[in-house]
Amino acid sequence: MHAPDPGGGGFSRPGAQAYAAEWARAVRRIGFVPLSAAGTERLLLEHTVRLGQALLAPVFSARVAEDVGRALVAAHLTDPGVLDWSVQALGDRFLPRVLPPLAEEPEVRERVVALQGALGAGFARALRDRTFSQQERIARSAWQARDAVEQALRDSEARFRAVFTGAAIGIGIAAVDGTILEVNQSFADMLGYTVEELRRINVAALCHADDAAGMWELYQELTEGKHDSVRVEKRYYRKDGSTIRTDLAVSLIRHDDGRPRFTVAMIEDITERYELEQRLRFQALHDPLTGLPNRTLFLETLGEVFDTAGPEQRVGLCFIDLDGFKAINDSLGHGLGDRLLKVIGRRLADCVAGQGHLVARMGGDEFVILVDSGGGLDDAVEVAELALAAVSAPVHVGDQQLAVSASIGIVECPAVETSVSELMKAADTTLYWAKAEGRGRWAVYDPERSAADIARSALAAGLPAALDRGEFVLHYQPIVSLLDESMVAVEALVRWQHPDLGLIGPDRFIGLAEETGLIVRLGAWVLKQACRDAEGWRRAYPGTRLVVSVNLAARQADDPAIVETVAEALQHTGLPAELLQLELTESAVMGTAGEPLRSLHQLADLGVRLAIDDFGTGYSNLAYLRRLPIHCLKLAGPFVEGIRNDGTDDAADHRDERIVDALVRLAHALELWVTAEAVETEVQAERLRALRCDTGQGRWFGPPMPANRIHAQLGGKEGPLLNASGREGAPS
Ligand code: C2E
Ligand code: MG
Ligand code: MG
Repeated sequence: MHAPDPGGGGFSRPGAQAYAAEWARAVRRIGFVPLSAAGTERLLLEHTVRLGQALLAPVFSARVAEDVGRALVAAHLTDPGVLDWSVQALGDRFLPRVLPPLAEEPEVRERVVALQGALGAGFARALRDRTFSQQERIARSAWQARDAVEQALRDSEARFRAVFTGAAIGIGIAAVDGTILEVNQSFADMLGYTVEELRRINVAALCHADDAAGMWELYQELTEGKHDSVRVEKRYYRKDGSTIRTDLAVSLIRHDDGRPRFTVAMIEDITERYELEQRLRFQALHDPLTGLPNRTLFLETLGEVFDTAGPEQRVGLCFIDLDGFKAINDSLGHGLGDRLLKVIGRRLADCVAGQGHLVARMGGDEFVILVDSGGGLDDAVEVAELALAAVSAPVHVGDQQLAVSASIGIVECPAVETSVSELMKAADTTLYWAKAEGRGRWAVYDPERSAADIARSALAAGLPAALDRGEFVLHYQPIVSLLDESMVAVEALVRWQHPDLGLIGPDRFIGLAEETGLIVRLGAWVLKQACRDAEGWRRAYPGTRLVVSVNLAARQADDPAIVETVAEALQHTGLPAELLQLELTESAVMGTAGEPLRSLHQLADLGVRLAIDDFGTGYSNLAYLRRLPIHCLKLAGPFVEGIRNDGTDDAADHRDERIVDALVRLAHALELWVTAEAVETEVQAERLRALRCDTGQGRWFGPPMPANRIHAQLGGKEGPLLNASGREGAPS
């Protein structure tokens, strides 16, 4: 028979053949194989291909390996050594031979671990089923031989004796009162007694401290005739005090009228098989590198916590991720990376040892500690602190000393409020916060923040379509001469007319637009729209020469195409360049390379005015400022706020006033205009005028308003400008 190829995906046919050949050799070496060498190899090649297919399947299932385990038993390859070899080779040799390109893929390696476990399980189950049917056959013979026992073992005694003495399985016959009548040599050997010693005792003497609850009641019921057979896993003390683990099947033999007569017990020593199963289970549930519980065991345990949680139960976990592990791996190689993970894994386990917390490796450089949190959040935070300290001690691997740090997301809440998947998602989100806040620290899950994050992402996702649908609008806020309170400019401030959320201010979406890069397109639209509106006012009122001031985000200013975008907006709308002012923040003026932007000069050459927005909140290098083609400083709101409304003689007020005074003088020395932002009261306006500030902007002079209201004000239709702020009357 020709085994099909899994096809593509890195599967190596020669590799599979070599693997199957080696497998066949090993199997034949270990024990008797009722197949020819070629037949064994053919069979195992088929299984090799099936395992390869399972690893490459788009949707993974370990079922195939279970079938392979069963098939080994079906082919009479039942020696435990066969299973040992098969599982070991699957872990060590399978990938490098059969799927060499995938040998280092963590996901594929995880699949291999699952296949190992399933193979062992399939093997063990098949073996058990086989033993059971064997036992049943023996029980039938014994039953058929009941007359022989009863009638002084007459004609069929020879047959019964043959079965009884020759069986590898332990067989014992007891009266219904429990007195042992007969045991075979295997039975005696298993328990370490002689046949004679066992014949003298009652089965009750064979009880073990770990007997399953209800086992003896079941036996009692059997002897009363309520059942015909009972099957349990039972441990026995051997004569030397050691314990063996057996598969025990007891059948009831009745008199012709149905009354219980005696019981036949058959035991099979499954100690080795049990230990193998335990070893396989350990392998399937532990990370081979660090020896820590793996993701499967962690999720299983967490699931149990939820399944058994009472209303008061809390769950806490610390989700740990090493900072910059990829860089370490890439620069020092995977070998050192693995050793580092081993050290960290051990330290994490040690730092909380004996406290009842579960430390697991989730994969890659991710670890998790399930906190046994009687003390709520405090316990979880304490564990996180211990973990951070454990990770941050220098690590020596090879001749390298590495400084490692980790970030930790902590989630702690009542179990009833969450589920495994929600908890893991929350931990992941929180870990991300800890990373974003600068790494090497822990963060605690905050449902409100998470909801805000989600809302933010939703808002960010909606931005491009909103721009396409024309949902953005510009409002304009007057910038007023402090000398005569005439409106000399307006600042264009963008808003989002959101279909569900109403009018949204820029503070909620400009940052998002910057992060996603949409700001370049959005900014271009703002620029063009502002120029179009300003040109409209200029045409309508040629005498006014109202400047429109447009904000440029750092990312826009850094964009090499900005000069072209601005030139095009001017050309397209016909607005004279000197009626456009661009506002840049201090940090935007300095490009990413820490140098003032080149495009500033080109923009200035176009004839547009440049203003530094929110001046005083950044860290401007004044020497640079002098050399830049800047026209105006907009003093940040907090300075103006410091100029108190009530005119009290507070020292702090004086300090802010002195700062504003100094800044205005400085600006004038550099031949720059000064606009004070956020002017909210008459007192502030008066003092700023006294300090010779040139222009002011703020609620006192008027809020941001739609374009048509600016139009109306220019036409004098809305009365004096200052009414816009709701103030009664206006100075002329
Ligand atoms: P900004 O450029 O400093 O704009 C001034 C902000 O101060 C505006 O907030 C304005 O409504 C607000 N404001 C006005 N009067 C007062 C007052 O009396 N007191 C106080 N405390 N604040 C006042 P808005 O419109 O929410 O804009 C916030 C920020 O969003 C702007 O700060 C600017 O950095 C950014 N922004 C607005 N539109 C755009 C745009 O089209 N492009 C870019 N890149 N950024 C924009
Ligand atoms: Mg501004
Ligand atoms: Mg500002």
